[in-house]
Amino acid sequence: MIPFASEHLNRYLSSDLLPLIPLGILFVLGAIAGQGVNAWVRRMSLKPSIQPLSRCQTCGERFPRWKLIPLLRWIPLQNRCRKCLISLPRSEFLLELATGGLFILFYFMVVQERCLEIPAVVPPGFMFEWRLLYHYLLLILLVAATSIDFREYLIPDQITMPGMLIGVVGATIAGQLQIVHVWVDWNQAIPGLSGPYIPEWIKVHSHWHGLAWSLAGLIAGGGLTWVLRLVSSVLLGQEALGFGDVTLMAMIGSFVGWQPILLILLLAPLCGLLIGFVSRMVTGKTYLPYGPYLCAATLIVLMGWKWIWLAEWPSTVAGAPPEFSIRHLFGDALGLAILAGIALGALILMLLLLRGYRAIPVKRR
Ligand SMILES: [Zn+2]
Repeated sequence: MIPFASEHLNRYLSSDLLPLIPLGILFVLGAIAGQGVNAWVRRMSLKPSIQPLSRCQTCGERFPRWKLIPLLRWIPLQNRCRKCLISLPRSEFLLELATGGLFILFYFMVVQERCLEIPAVVPPGFMFEWRLLYHYLLLILLVAATSIDFREYLIPDQITMPGMLIGVVGATIAGQLQIVHVWVDWNQAIPGLSGPYIPEWIKVHSHWHGLAWSLAGLIAGGGLTWVLRLVSSVLLGQEALGFGDVTLMAMIGSFVGWQPILLILLLAPLCGLLIGFVSRMVTGKTYLPYGPYLCAATLIVLMGWKWIWLAEWPSTVAGAPPEFSIRHLFGDALGLAILAGIALGALILMLLLLRGYRAIPVKRR
């Protein structure tokens, strides 16, 4: 049984069947959002021949009104233009389906599995629901960026600029949307006596903290990706990352903060290798945009946050602090230096793999 997002709503729902209703509603909302993304992506397209969603891609014939209902447009035998008999693009149908599925999966991970719950960050009152909504907006932006990057190899500012604005303004107004505070000092943690030190001002000025946290994420996301772009273009002799990837990461940073950004940048090459390899084998495409990997890594970090942040290597001495844990790396200068070293190593590895990957022979169709 899937519980509702909070106690407030759970009180009104006790039957076992009722919890399925929100899942159905979520799926429909996801499909509607997916259709919105399809319409938005078509409008942003640079190709002059692209028609709006209400018209046939090929001949421009206007569809009957019921064809604007997401998913239902693809009823078998009805999914063709009645004038030129060309069927509607399947990728758009899949996107609506996938967005519906993603909405349910994210809800399940956040509400049932509590993937964003870590001891130091507990959003008070209704902030849990607001944070969920905030993350759903990020999901829609990521789906849009992925879709247009796959289609046209670019991520337009029309996605990332409003995205950054929503990220920063939302964080400032709500003040409690972070999944981890902007700064936590782990050196002051003494097992059994005191936990990690969270600076006092974060509790007192939550809105200023929201602004600082979101801006730190924005700068880390944009800045680090820009450096990666420079280094990779020097080492590879060609641009592996576009400027759209820089603004995309700045936008993601404004929603998740700076610590997850480092993990996303570390994880993206792995996602790329996996998706790229499969995609190359299936479609034979030799060049794939990097944006979708960044989006995939963001989803993995968000939905696995609790397990990533709390991961640790326990000490052999009873009661002693853990030998190693990911979160401690973010708490002091030495840890950050280690992290920078790992990031640089991962970057070099990624570039080597990218070179090797381009050399994988693929049978052309
Ligand atoms: Zn047509």
